[in-house]
Formats: sequence, C-alpha cells, structure tokens
Amino acid sequence: MTYILTPAMVRSIPSHDANADLCSLPFLRNMIVTFAQLNLNPNIFKAIDICGYTKPTPIQARSIPDILAGKDLVASAQTGTGKTAAFILPALHKVSLGKSTQKPRILILTPTRELANQITDAVGKYGKFMQCRVASLVGGMPYRQQLRKLSKPVDIIVATPGRLMDHMSNHRLDLSSIEMLILDEADRMLDMGFIDDVKDIAKMTPPSRQTLLFSATVDDRLSQVIRNLLKNPIHINLSHEKMSPAQIKQEFYMVDNAKHKEQLLQYFLDNEKVFKAIIFSATKSNADKLARDLCNQDFPAAALHGDLKQSLRNRTIDQLKRGKIQFLVATDVAARGIDINDITHVINYDLPKFSEDYVHRIGRTGRAGKTGIAISFSTFAEAKHLHKIERYVGQKFSLSTVPGLEPRQRLQSRSDHSQGKKNEGKPRGDFKQKSDRKYRASEGGFKKREGRSFEAPKGSGGFKKRSKRSFKPSNGQVDFKHRENKSASFKKRDN
Ligand code: AMP
Repeated sequence: MTYILTPAMVRSIPSHDANADLCSLPFLRNMIVTFAQLNLNPNIFKAIDICGYTKPTPIQARSIPDILAGKDLVASAQTGTGKTAAFILPALHKVSLGKSTQKPRILILTPTRELANQITDAVGKYGKFMQCRVASLVGGMPYRQQLRKLSKPVDIIVATPGRLMDHMSNHRLDLSSIEMLILDEADRMLDMGFIDDVKDIAKMTPPSRQTLLFSATVDDRLSQVIRNLLKNPIHINLSHEKMSPAQIKQEFYMVDNAKHKEQLLQYFLDNEKVFKAIIFSATKSNADKLARDLCNQDFPAAALHGDLKQSLRNRTIDQLKRGKIQFLVATDVAARGIDINDITHVINYDLPKFSEDYVHRIGRTGRAGKTGIAISFSTFAEAKHLHKIERYVGQKFSLSTVPGLEPRQRLQSRSDHSQGKKNEGKPRGDFKQKSDRKYRASEGGFKKREGRSFEAPKGSGGFKKRSKRSFKPSNGQVDFKHRENKSASFKKRDN
C-alpha cells in the first residue's frame, strides 16, 4: 500500500527517534489492519495467531498504538468487542521490554471476580510464549494461594479492589514499581462503590505510571475520576459500535405473568436447539429455584449468584466450560466476565435492571466471531424498561410470539407511553391473538421432558443422557437455518 504524506504529516514524525513506530503516528492509526502492523513482541504475535485472530478488532486497532506509545487512554467500548486483548496485548509487550523485577509492573483492577478470572486466563493465553508471572487477587478465595503467589516475583496483578486493599493494608504488596494501571469496567466499579478504593490504590503507584481506563459508558461522575487519575488521556469512543446483527440474533417476547414465562421457557427448552445457555434471573432465590426445576427435569443445570462461595462459582463456570452442565441460571454476577465460546443462547428470563447489563448479558453468546441467540422475556409492567434498553442499544426491537403461547394482554403503543396514557384494553394490533393454543405447557412448573435435544460435541465430556435429536454446532455456530424455518410459523409483530 502506498501512503502519500503531506508536509504536515512529515513534520509530525518525531525526528529524534529513528525507530519511531509508524503506528504511533496519528494519521496512520486508522490504517492499522493487521496484527503485524502493531509491532508487538513476536511471542505475543505467535499466541494471537494460535487463538485464530486474523485481524485486530476496531477497539484493538484504535487503542493499541496509543497504549504502545505510552499515552494515557480512556476507551468506551462494549463487551464482546475484544477490549480485554486491547489492554492485555500492550501490557504484555511492556512486560517483554522491561527488566524483570521482584515487584509487580502492571496492575489491572476490575469490579468482579469472574471478570478478574477471565482477564487472568487471557493473560495466560496471550502470554503463553513469554515469561510472564501473573497473580489473581480476588475476594471470596482463600488467602493461602494468593499469599504463595505474592511471596514470589510477579509481573502482572489482576485484582478486585477490596481484596487488593486487604493485601495492601497488611503490607503484603508493594506497588511502587507499577508502570501501567488498568481500570477495566470503570463504570461498574463506580456503581459498585469501589471508586474510593481505586483512588487509594492509585495513590500507592508512581505518578509517572501510564493509566488506561475502559468503560462501557463515561458519565459526569466518571469524568471526574478520569481528571483525577489520568494525564491528558486520548479518548476513544466505540461505545456505539453495534454488534453485528448476524452475530447475535435478538428475540423479544411479552409475557403476562410468571407462569407464562415458565411456559415459554419450557417451549424453548423443548424446541430450540440449545447447546449451552445462560438463563438470567433477577433474584438469587429465583435463580436457585429455576436451576432446581431444570435439574428435576434432567437438564444439567446449576445456579450462579453472589450468595454462593467463590470456589463453587468458579467450579460451576468451569463445569459450563467443560460441558458438564448445559444451563447456567445466573444473576448479573455472570453478565460480565464469562468468556465461553460455545454458549449458543442467552435467555433473559427477567430483564436486567440496568440497560447496559442487557448488552453485557447477551455478549455472553456470539463470542469470538461465532453466532448466538438472545431471547428476552418482558412483562407488560416492564415495557417502558424495554424501551429504555432499545434506546440504549439504538435499535428498535420487534416482538415475537410463540403460537399458542401469545400473551393475553396487549402492549400500549410507544406514543401512549410517552404521553403517559393508560392502556384502555382496546386491541391495538400489537399481537395477533389466537384462540386455539397449539402448544400446551403443563400448568404447574416445568413438565418432564421426553427426549433430550442436545448432544455435546466430541471431547467436551458430554452429558449423561443423550437424545435422539442431535445438535452438533460446527465451530459453535447456531443452526440459524433450522431456527428460521421454524420461525416462519411464528406470528411476528411489527410495531
Ligand atoms: P472481550 O470483549 O474482551 O470480552 O472479548 C470478546 C471475545 O473476542 C473473546 O472471546 C476473545 O477471545 C475474542 N477476541 C479478542 N480479540 C479478537 C480478535 N482480534 N479477533 C477475533 N476474536 C477476538
């Protein structure tokens, strides 16, 4: 490729540095299309190649050159866009350049334990061909293993703020050699009340450090934190970068009540080719109940929520990864930080409280270039909330119905919502009501299943029972063809 440089461009090339990396030049930044152009350490490049990544994602292409150039950075990007690698790859590159010391050089702070585990795994994955020692310091885990890690030299620390503060107050950690501080999901750390801890931790690191802040959104409160902790940061905003519709197919169903939800879930379990799914519940008790109901039907399922011990939570995620369980019924602790490539379905049994969690939740499927289906149930009382989510993701959702399981109520039109009118019960043509129920779910909870609609792919450990109907996703791809044929019989509603 030939670049024509204007005199202004030539003047911006730093003359003092004969080896100036072309990536660091502003006018070339948008032209980064391959990992080779990023000039990362060859061992990192080799690991990326093994992961099968052919080119950097937009967040990687936009942020890595600035990070490598040593700049502070604020990046707004949705989950599932490859943002973890966007900070880990340059962090590993930094480790590869400097001299190995006894003290940690990179500190990554993240709000949840699951996210910390995912980041630690990613460090292991991208750093597998280089000498990089990583310690994960998260709450809810025994101290013994963490103390053992801290008794040896370590390059990268991945931590949740509470446990890190705990180690610091016991003088087990020296952050005076930190060269790079990374705040991942900073908006969430703010929401969870960790920000004072984050500021205290930052004070213990050298002022000369490089600071990177990743967040789905940046509001006024976060802007204050940014002014406080970062120096002239570069801002990259890819928060409105939409997930490709081909990647995650989103479906929405209005429900009358709890029983109607159960019936719809039953329908999808019986009729969808679900390979692995996360079912999101609003409450811990309901997550437990749903998981129990599924197990009673011989579905390999488990619950995941904040009341469970961290070791059990880790084990459950590991079982989902290895295919020992097929359904994870979770609260929003699982909305972020679960990176399992073969989750074919996310079911929002209850809508999330915060709109941004919708994006995080559905981002558990359709990962790493694969396809996925996100199914969401909304009660009529939550219709306004559904519209909020629509506005947040910048898409107008169309509602689907299952023949025989259409809702009895009707949805108010959007204009009624905006004018605050009450639904007067008049048909508005939102749903085509059917009098004959083609699908009859059992009246009390889930019915016992007759056949299993799932077959684990070879080598995944498999489930105990197998069905006549098999589903072998090739490369984790959802069989959309089948789904589309079936959906032809659905009464789709268009608003
Ligand atoms: P994240 O947004 O960090 O949660 O990453 C989402 C998924 O994208 C993870 O499963 C990564 O393994 C995958 N990923 C990261 N970078 C790339 C890339 N350049 N090409 C393809 N997949 C990627």
